[in-house]
Amino acid sequence: MRPVRPLIFALLALLFVLATCSATSALILPSASAVAPTNVPAPLPTPSVLPTATAVKVAVPLVGTARPTPTTVPPSPSPAPPAFDVAAQRAALLPAFHADLADAAAWDRYTLNLRMDPQALSVSGTLLVEFTNRATVALDTIYFRLYPNHPDFGGGLRVDAARVGGQNAPFAAEVAETALRVGLAQPLAPGASVRIELDFLARTPRNASDETFGAFNMEAGVWSIASFYPMLARYSADGQWDRRAITSRGDFTVSSVALYDVTIDAPAAWNLVTSGVRIDQQPLDGGARRERYVSGPQREFYLGAVQGLDQASTTVDGTRIVTYYQPGNKAGGAASLRAGEDALRAYNARYGTYPLAELEIIQAALTNFLGMEYPGAVLIEQRLYATNSRGLLTTVVHEIGHQWWYSLVGNDAQRDPWLDEGLASYSQIVYFEALGDRVAAEGELDAFRDTYRRARANGRDAPLNTPPDQLPGNYVAIVYAKSALFSRPCALASAMRLLCHTTALLQ
Ligand SMILES: [Zn+2]
Repeated sequence: MRPVRPLIFALLALLFVLATCSATSALILPSASAVAPTNVPAPLPTPSVLPTATAVKVAVPLVGTARPTPTTVPPSPSPAPPAFDVAAQRAALLPAFHADLADAAAWDRYTLNLRMDPQALSVSGTLLVEFTNRATVALDTIYFRLYPNHPDFGGGLRVDAARVGGQNAPFAAEVAETALRVGLAQPLAPGASVRIELDFLARTPRNASDETFGAFNMEAGVWSIASFYPMLARYSADGQWDRRAITSRGDFTVSSVALYDVTIDAPAAWNLVTSGVRIDQQPLDGGARRERYVSGPQREFYLGAVQGLDQASTTVDGTRIVTYYQPGNKAGGAASLRAGEDALRAYNARYGTYPLAELEIIQAALTNFLGMEYPGAVLIEQRLYATNSRGLLTTVVHEIGHQWWYSLVGNDAQRDPWLDEGLASYSQIVYFEALGDRVAAEGELDAFRDTYRRARANGRDAPLNTPPDQLPGNYVAIVYAKSALFSRPCALASAMRLLCHTTALLQ
């Protein structure tokens, strides 16, 4: 993910201009597409759908923060929640992958009960995590990440209460409130499990995509609420919880695969778009609904809602693809669906079959980047639909490439973004090759070569595994272009799986 701070935008824009770079975005490309770099201020087409009449940016920082609960608070036992329904998870997977759930003991389990309030721009509720200690030592604390408290999100995530095994537990925020420590009354032995409940509230900004991370924002008919819940931090093999400061460069989340069972009180006039599949829906007062979703094994759970968008769908190799687009962008919407269909078919044949029953493509106001990937859902910048250009195609197929490289095969995107970004960028070439369009495939390749050569000529070459915060001005050239060129011979030698299993696989 490219950073969103204006200072870095300006720097990147200057570098793009100086280098006369043809890249279409710092996030996706370089690509042969001839779209103006999105980091250069450009007039926006008027979105054909807006949830509110105002275009004023409204950043909504939370007034509260996670507060430690005094350990002297009397215990308040809560009723034991029902057992996690692993069998229900099958609905999110194609039948050929139902047997994967035999490995369910390897994954932690999240049960979320949520209420969305679009007027307050908030989603609140309770998270229940069934956590198993897979380390070799006993644990007396559990850490979560609170991604929306990173300043780029422009909103926040507040935890109001923590319970462990039904008893109140001490908790506190750390690392600029992006990490949450929950204390255990008794050490958790290796192999043992514990139930942790957190009451939380997340709040997004509105119409703020030009200043903040657009995947956590309400704008242009999309309320995107990515990474909205406390997410278990990773516990590394060397015995450390992941409490690193979060960097703007690269994607934000670094998380382990888990199972999700999510019940949401959805507001009237909004349709939910999430990771996973809806398995139940009950009417509530005033047109609201209570909807239940299951995810299958996923790296995180994406939640979004759309209002006033049109949709179209198709099915590829058993997976239903749904595209959501603004009513004025029918041609772009159709093109996004066709690109998704062709990409899924190409990658199924090249990488291995996509196991999920559904995949969503959403036209959204991202503004400072062109696309963003989540398990089972991708966001595509709205301006690309109006032009219906090759930039729309390459962005859609890049983000769908991430369904394999990031989602199915995980890597530490904060430390090694070149792994998933390189393979997703290389997937743009795979897509055109699968269509039999050798000219277009060579065009993508040439664009990556040009970008990398330009960086080298300017003395800005760097090793692929350079930490992202040490790539000022050459992040795109190294993390996207050079890595795509590196990925190509690996893939041609059928070494991609070996590469990923030896260096990238987190779990
Ligand atoms: Zn990417």
